[in-house]
Amino acid sequence: MSYLVLARKHRPATFDEVVGQEHVTRTLAGALESGRLAHAFCFTGPRGVGKTTVARILAKALNCEHGPTATPCGKCGHCLEISEGRAVDVQEIDAASNSRVEDVRELREMIRYHPQSGRYRVTILDEVHMLSKAAFNALLKTLEEPPEHAVFILATTDVHKVPLTILSRCQRFDFRRLPPRVLAEHLRKVLAAEGLSLPAESLALMAREADGSVRDSLSLLDQVLAAGKESMTHPEVVELLGLVDRELVTATANAVLAGEAGEVLDLVSQVYAAGGEMQAFYGALQEHFRNLAAAKAAPEGAELFGLTPEEMAALRAQAGSHSPETLHEIFDHLAASEDLFRRASQPRLVMEMTLLKLTQVKPVVSLAEIISGLERAGGGESGAPPSRPRNNPAPPVAHNAAPAHNPAPAGNPRPAPARQAPAAPTPPPPPPAAPAAKAAPAGKPGDAEGMLKELVRYAEQNQPALASYLGRATAALEDGLLRVTLPPGAIATSYATEKNQQRLNRMASELWDNGPKVRLSASTEAVQAPDHQALAAAKAQAAAELAEHPVVRQAAEVFEAEVVALNPADPNHKPNLLSTEQD
Ligand SMILES: [Zn+2]
Repeated sequence: MSYLVLARKHRPATFDEVVGQEHVTRTLAGALESGRLAHAFCFTGPRGVGKTTVARILAKALNCEHGPTATPCGKCGHCLEISEGRAVDVQEIDAASNSRVEDVRELREMIRYHPQSGRYRVTILDEVHMLSKAAFNALLKTLEEPPEHAVFILATTDVHKVPLTILSRCQRFDFRRLPPRVLAEHLRKVLAAEGLSLPAESLALMAREADGSVRDSLSLLDQVLAAGKESMTHPEVVELLGLVDRELVTATANAVLAGEAGEVLDLVSQVYAAGGEMQAFYGALQEHFRNLAAAKAAPEGAELFGLTPEEMAALRAQAGSHSPETLHEIFDHLAASEDLFRRASQPRLVMEMTLLKLTQVKPVVSLAEIISGLERAGGGESGAPPSRPRNNPAPPVAHNAAPAHNPAPAGNPRPAPARQAPAAPTPPPPPPAAPAAKAAPAGKPGDAEGMLKELVRYAEQNQPALASYLGRATAALEDGLLRVTLPPGAIATSYATEKNQQRLNRMASELWDNGPKVRLSASTEAVQAPDHQALAAAKAQAAAELAEHPVVRQAAEVFEAEVVALNPADPNHKPNLLSTEQD
C-alpha cells in the first residue's frame, strides 16, 4: 500500500494549524492584517519545529489571490503552486549548497525583476548560516535596499553564526522546541485523523525522544505505523523503535542516587525484558546524569540542552540535595566505564556491575565545605556531631557564635584566591552566600567568571560536552587573556585541546567586541610537563599531610566522612597552604 509520510500529509496549511509556535504565527497574522510587514524575516530554532512550514504559509499569505491575508485560501492557483513547490515567484534556496558569493549575486539579479504572477518575490533561504562571509556581505547590500516587491525569509538552526548586521535588518522570530506534552497531543490528533490510536505512554515516549521536533516525532510515528499492526502495546512500541524508556532511565538514576542495589538490578532486568538496547540505555543514563548535574548548577530559568522548563524542574527535583560533586563523580564513572561497556560481550553484566559500583559512590563533600562547616560548628570542639544523611551532604549550619580564637589559620584546601586574602584572626566568618560547591574562580572575581558563564551558555548550543566541563572550569583575566582552566580529571583534561581553544576564541569573538583572547588549559595535574613527576609527588604528599591535619581529621570525624579527593586549584598555592597549615 502506498504511504505518504505523515510529516507531509499533515503539514499545516494555515497559521492556525501550526503547532506550538503561536507566539510566531499570531504576530505574523497580526502584521499581515494591519498591512505592516517587514521585508526580511529571520526564523531561528532547532530543526523540525516548523520554520520552513511557516515560511511557506507566509509566502501563500502574501501571494494568495485573496490576499495579502492572514488566512490564505489554499485553493487559488498561487496557494496551490506554493504548496506544491512550483511557484515561480517563491524560491526556496538551500544556503548550505549555495553558499558562495556568486550564488547570492545571482539571486540579487533575479529579485530585481518584478514577480511574474504573484504580488511578491519571496525568497526562502534555508540554513542561511552556511553562507560564506562574502555571500553574507552581498546579501546585506540587498537587505539594505530591497526592491519593493521582495520579501526575504532567512531560516537557520544556528542563529549565532548569522552576522549581527544581517540580523539587524530582519524581523526575528525564535521558534521553540515543543514541550513533550504538546507533541504527544499532536501525535494523538494525527493518529486520530488516521483512524488509529496508541497507548498514551507510547505517545509520551515518542514525544520525548523527538526532542521537541514535530518532524522527528512524526517520523517515529511513521516507523510504528509502518509495522502495519492494528493495535500495539507500549513494550511493543519501545521494542519496535529500539528506544530507551526514559521512565526507566529516571528510575534507575533514582535507585543509583539512593544507593539501592537491589532496585538497580531489578530495573536493569526490566530494560532487558522490554527488549531495550543496553548500549542505548547506557548512553541515556549518562546523558541523564549530565542533565542532572547541569540542572543543579544552572540558574533558575536557564535554557539547557533544549530541555523544557518541566523537564528542568523534574531534573532539579531529582538532583535534590545531592551535591554537584556527587553527580559529577557518577557521570565520570559512567564515562570511564563506557569503553569497557562497548567492548563487552555481555553488556548486561557490565551494566549491572557498573551500576552496582555507582550505588557505592559516597557523597562527595569538598574539603572547603567541611572545614567551613566545622568552623561554624565552633571549631569542632563543641556541639553534637551533626549527622549527615546520604541525601544531604551539605554541612549543617550551627548557630552558636564562631570562636574568636580561630585555631586553624583558615587553611582553605581549595584555595579560592578571592577569599584567601583575610589572614588568620578574622572576625566571625562572613555568612557565606551559599556553601559554594564549585571551586571559586581564580583571579579577579565577577568579570572573568561572568565571561566564562557566557561562554558556557554559548557552548551549550552546539558543544554540550565541552560546555559541561567548562561549567566546572575556573577563569581568570590576566594580561588581557581569559585563562580558562578545566577541572581536574582525565576526561576533563582531554578537552584542553588546541581545537577547543580555537572554538572558544571563535565564540568569544562572536560574543564580544574587543573581548579577550581565550587560553584553555587543563588543571594543574596535567600541565607543566617538565615538573610533572615532582608535582605529582608534591601533590601526593600534600594530600597525605592534609589528610593527617588535625582540622581535617576532626572534620572527618564530625561529618563521618573520608577524604575522597583533593583538588588544589594552583600548585603555586600549595606550599603556602601547607606552611600555614603547619604553623
Ligand atoms: Zn489562495
